[in-house]
Amino acid sequence: MIVAKKIFVRGIVQGVGFRPKVFTYAKESQVNGWVKNTSAGVEIMVEGTPARVEKFISKLRVSPPPLAKVDSFVVSETLPIPYKDFTILESQSDPLEFIPISPDIAICPECKKEMFNPKDRRYRYPFINCTNCGPRFSIIRDIPYDRPLTSMAGFDMCPECKAEYTNPENRRFHAQPIACPTCGPQLWYEYDGKVQSRKEDALQMARKEIKTGRIVAVKGLGGYLLACDGTNPKTVYELRKRKNRVQKPFALMAWDVEVIKKYCQVSKAEEALLSSPQSPIVLLVKKPGIKLPDAIAPGQTSLGFMLPYTPLHLLLMEPESGYPNVLIMTSGNQSEEPIAYQDDEARERLASLADGFLMHNRPIEMRTDDSVSRVVENHPYLIRRARGFAPNPVQLPTQVLPILAVGGEMKNTFCLSRDNYAFMSHHIGEMDSQETFQSFESGIEHFEKIFRINPHLFACDLHPDYLSSNYARKRSCAENKELIQIQHHHAHLAACLADNGWKSDEQVIGLCFDGTGYGTDGAIWGGEFLVGNYAGFNRVSHFSYLPLPGGDAAIQHPWRIAAAYLQSSGLEWENDLPPFKGISLQETQLLEKQLQKKINTPPTSSLGRLFDAVSALVGVCENTSYEGQAAIELEAVLDPNETGAYEFEIAPSREIEIKKLLTQVVRDIHENVPVGKISAHFHNGLNNMISTICESVRKESGIKTVALSGGVWQNRSLLTSTIKALTNEGFQILWHHQVPTNDGGIALGQTMIAHVQSQR
Ligand code: ZN
Ligand code: ZN
Ligand code: FE
Repeated sequence: MIVAKKIFVRGIVQGVGFRPKVFTYAKESQVNGWVKNTSAGVEIMVEGTPARVEKFISKLRVSPPPLAKVDSFVVSETLPIPYKDFTILESQSDPLEFIPISPDIAICPECKKEMFNPKDRRYRYPFINCTNCGPRFSIIRDIPYDRPLTSMAGFDMCPECKAEYTNPENRRFHAQPIACPTCGPQLWYEYDGKVQSRKEDALQMARKEIKTGRIVAVKGLGGYLLACDGTNPKTVYELRKRKNRVQKPFALMAWDVEVIKKYCQVSKAEEALLSSPQSPIVLLVKKPGIKLPDAIAPGQTSLGFMLPYTPLHLLLMEPESGYPNVLIMTSGNQSEEPIAYQDDEARERLASLADGFLMHNRPIEMRTDDSVSRVVENHPYLIRRARGFAPNPVQLPTQVLPILAVGGEMKNTFCLSRDNYAFMSHHIGEMDSQETFQSFESGIEHFEKIFRINPHLFACDLHPDYLSSNYARKRSCAENKELIQIQHHHAHLAACLADNGWKSDEQVIGLCFDGTGYGTDGAIWGGEFLVGNYAGFNRVSHFSYLPLPGGDAAIQHPWRIAAAYLQSSGLEWENDLPPFKGISLQETQLLEKQLQKKINTPPTSSLGRLFDAVSALVGVCENTSYEGQAAIELEAVLDPNETGAYEFEIAPSREIEIKKLLTQVVRDIHENVPVGKISAHFHNGLNNMISTICESVRKESGIKTVALSGGVWQNRSLLTSTIKALTNEGFQILWHHQVPTNDGGIALGQTMIAHVQSQR
């Protein structure tokens, strides 16, 4: 007897070697039929004896290709035709359908082996790839994912590549970016607007330049990176000067994990993350006394390392005597601008930064930065979600409307949803420049196209002046669709729920701690205890309001925040306190006047700002050059063996007073208590206060689940000790796993809130 079944598979199933696997299983199980990509997934028709068909289905179910992510697998009965063999049919495109698209994937071990094999025809070819690795998202123009719709369209396959591409038993069967030295993209090296060398010579020229201390712009997967010798203090200093990046850490690349282990502690989980197909930058704890210039990451206890994730990076990192074993690989841009990704744009924007350009002729369709992650409690914990992760969708706990959520202002990402998929964009960046805004707009356009999403409604932050909110407002007017404005910390809470697949409308306690977010009362919030769910929230506790001199601009001058907090708590500006040591009388008088007359001193309950104030007060960081610096440096000096804690005063209304805390800090400064102890007392005090408030809310409401979201939770010490303490007290803890805890995650929360609120 012959039976026939149709199988429909959905998820990340294209560009990951799915059809060749299906083909192989069909041959092994001796079934006939066909497989094809559609705009919505992969469709399979199989016929054979019931036993053979069953065998085929279970093979595919149990062992799909390693890079595939199957979200649904639906089998239905159909009538046998019958077919004489098993074939792979042409892709079929349906203008309304969509499927998730694979992110870019780091070079696989097989391709790496081939590239360094002198007998292989792709020996030292910087664009080697296969169905298991290589560019995806960054080269896609439209779906279905087929070569003519990628930036490889302009390269005609040579007969040898064509043979591999069409042979279902080959590792490169339908590998869309397939290429070789004969038919594929090529390298060149240029400076002064002239091509100086090509192919291997270009690579060698770039290496020689790097070796002699020059800075080379390298065209990578999702944009240009600036590469230079990370072991040479002079070079690192020069790069800082040119990039106008005073203290923000630079990312590093090393040939393999063994090299990284010379400089940093690397746990098993960290090693796995470094060498994963996503290959993010991983923040690792520095070993003491290492010989790398301090200027790489001033004031930090960790370094950000990644492994070479493309064949070109491997060739650039290849060990050789006298060649640096660590390169700085930082994004090709001036401080906070978006990374350069088009050749002409790079020539122009990076002219003052790079001494030369290592370029190639495979166009980049979508700009994507390197992702940044760390490992917390053995889980990857993303700080920037971009290459390797985007545009992997987050699976939502429910079917939602097509929504565009535009995120916030800092670390912007947006989110487009459809069915139960939330397509979170790659990291867009700080929305304070025209370049970033353009990148945001074109990113949205691209996502709407490749995922076939026409939003029915828009979601944005409550802040009246965010560029992202303006964009959403304009579109909602122009397209006559609803706009839902969402309070920043409610979005954080919902993002954490959605990140954890939270289905119910049960309420949780949200500890939403960050630097800044517009409150429903117009104040700057950021130290919020909310009780809520997707539908809404109540603010059950917060830090008491203090004046923020200069508003959000104050974050560059933590000493001013410290001064303002002291004064409004009725404490003196004593000259022996670190923030006042190097400050002129004129400056303090000016600040005093500003505070007295309340000129641009909005009230804030931000915990991020409290970190800034304490950091400045103890003299760790009085002025900053990047966001979060003062808090990061305060955490870096923490003495982990210190168990003492400051006391926080909690009012009957549950408002958290700051005066008592500051009094204790000032007392300890006067008593010459080491900063490591003060930092520990502050962290431990926060911990105790968090437990007290959660306990009090539980008593009142019975709620036993706590969600942790907001940029403050990038502080690993606070995060791990809070998880531990609250778990011990019987709370269930939700924290972030798929999207960042910082504002890079809020678009996910906005999406769920907008969906739930629009249903009412
Ligand atoms: Zn490969
Ligand atoms: Zn070829
Ligand atoms: Fe935030």
